[in-house]
Amino acid sequence: MKQEVSGARPQKGNPFVSFLWVILIVLFLNWLIFPNLMNRQIRATDYSTFVEKMDAGAIKEVMVKSGQIYFTVLENGEELTYQTGEIEDPQLVDRLLKAKSPNANGKITFSEIVPEENSPVLNFILMWILPGLLFYIIWKQASRSIQARMGAGGNFMSFGNGGAKIYADSEIKTTFADVAGQNEAKEMLKEIVDFLHNPKKYTDIGASLPKGALLVGPPGTGKTLIARAVAGEAKVPFFAISGSEFVQMFVGMGAAKVRDLFRQANEKAPCIIFIDEIDAIGKRRDSGLGGNDEREQTLNQLLTEMDGFDGRKGVVILAATNRPENLDKALLRPGRFDRRIQMELPDLEGRKAILNVHLKRVKHEEVDIDVVARATAGTSGAELANIVNEAALRAVRMGRNKINTADLEESVETVIAGAQKKGKVVSAEEKRIIAYHEIGHALVAAMQTHSAPVHKITIIPRTSGALGYTMQVESGEQVLMNKDDLFNRIVTLTGGRTAEEVICHIVTTGASNDIEQATKLARAMVTRYGMSDKYDMMGLETVNNAYLGGDTSLTCSAETAANIDLEVLDIIKKAHEKARCLIQENIQVMHEAATFLLEKETITGEEFMHILHSVRQEK
Ligand code: ADP
Ligand code: MG
Ligand code: ZN
Repeated sequence: MKQEVSGARPQKGNPFVSFLWVILIVLFLNWLIFPNLMNRQIRATDYSTFVEKMDAGAIKEVMVKSGQIYFTVLENGEELTYQTGEIEDPQLVDRLLKAKSPNANGKITFSEIVPEENSPVLNFILMWILPGLLFYIIWKQASRSIQARMGAGGNFMSFGNGGAKIYADSEIKTTFADVAGQNEAKEMLKEIVDFLHNPKKYTDIGASLPKGALLVGPPGTGKTLIARAVAGEAKVPFFAISGSEFVQMFVGMGAAKVRDLFRQANEKAPCIIFIDEIDAIGKRRDSGLGGNDEREQTLNQLLTEMDGFDGRKGVVILAATNRPENLDKALLRPGRFDRRIQMELPDLEGRKAILNVHLKRVKHEEVDIDVVARATAGTSGAELANIVNEAALRAVRMGRNKINTADLEESVETVIAGAQKKGKVVSAEEKRIIAYHEIGHALVAAMQTHSAPVHKITIIPRTSGALGYTMQVESGEQVLMNKDDLFNRIVTLTGGRTAEEVICHIVTTGASNDIEQATKLARAMVTRYGMSDKYDMMGLETVNNAYLGGDTSLTCSAETAANIDLEVLDIIKKAHEKARCLIQENIQVMHEAATFLLEKETITGEEFMHILHSVRQEK
């Protein structure tokens, strides 16, 4: 169904054009008052030049006007007009009369123009009508554009709400084709699209569709994108507003805006209201002391409006958040946001699809999407979009006009580890330690079963501070991780430091990130995954913000907390010991691979495996 929203689009007659008109009028009036000086080029000069020219008999015409002398000189057959300040000079008239001139009668024509008093009518226009007109035009434009934003029937109340972006957009080009993966979410939203297309089908049977759907998921998974796609597919007006826009400085405005929004939506039905980042207003009301009055009023108004409108009319409310656990329970009860649509980080297939969508928008050669998708486990759609863009930028930098696989791989590394930092000075000894450290990770990973294959090792410093890194790429998608997998991962993380110890007999700060990650993993094994013998299946930690970083808080006694530390230490010690064994058994591989890496700075997984196998066969 096509929807006309004539009053709802911002009008084109803008303040700039009327401003131009005002300038034109002023220029015209100016020309009326100073007619003949406007169209001559006038040069400033000093009084002595004036006198000199007069004595030389070069002046044709002199005109005195409001304390300025304008005189026209014939120079090399050309008439030039000069301007100079008038000086108290009683003999000026005498001199002018006596002076010679190139004029036909040999005399200078001279005159004084007494500035004419403007006629009272003109004065009145300039002083009163013009400024009034100016203000009227500005006011008219401002109120018109705000009305356009607020919808055709904008009332005076809405005047104070400037800056809000509530206008119905009826020409959204985004469709479901732009949203890759997320098939479950699309499936659920298709029903809403269908409802907006054929409400009759649903109302005939007496059904009323969910009034609202809440999109939840980590940042960058396409929540905002898919909401736009729903509007694009349904071809209905789309009222988009961000939660924070409701909360304004003046108490009561947020609630007024909610009222306004729903009133307009009702007029434009069928349509979609989209409230992005709804947690800004929808936060639980009991949380914290001294709640924010303004926010609560706005939330209450929102709850009231959602109850108040008729679900069969065709107004669908979508909202997005990445903190669903903070939302007020009242918002989530049936009849309000009763549908919850989960947007997850994309899996392998999803990542391929997203890369394909974004690659379609850039020029590229045949690229190996599979490798890129496998190397980017855990990244969001927004990051993948960024990777494609970085690759395009790199291609331009390299003077090519198409993206190739190398661009994509490099930009994956840029997004994950930061840009290359070639200028950083690293001494030969440090380089050697870094090389052994990275080979240590790679070797330990390669010697264990159930460990992701090594894809690449490099010792080029990165802007993120990494001095080198070992990139492992999962061969497939793993849904469940078992205890051995996790332990092996910790062993791999300890591999770098172990290599420093075993070969260079030194410990460095280079392992700090490994230590952090290993500890986090070991801790999660004990407190959340029930993988320690001592605590069996007891949950000792809860995750607070699943979609934003996932920080945790302990839910056990202080005594248990101390014991957890011991358990964690135990796991890490075992892992460290295992890594030491693996490295000591393969010292020869370590040396050969490190030599190769020091020479080339980068070594691929295949090259590494080749070294590994040839050394082991020799034995
Ligand atoms: P969110 O609102 O969930 O934080 P956005 O919808 O703003 O994320 O996504 C940001 C950008 O990431 C989008 O504009 C799009 O380019 C890209 N993106 C995210 N998810 C997808 C997806 N599933 N398919 C295609 N592009 C995506
Ligand atoms: Mg968003
Ligand atoms: Zn390391």
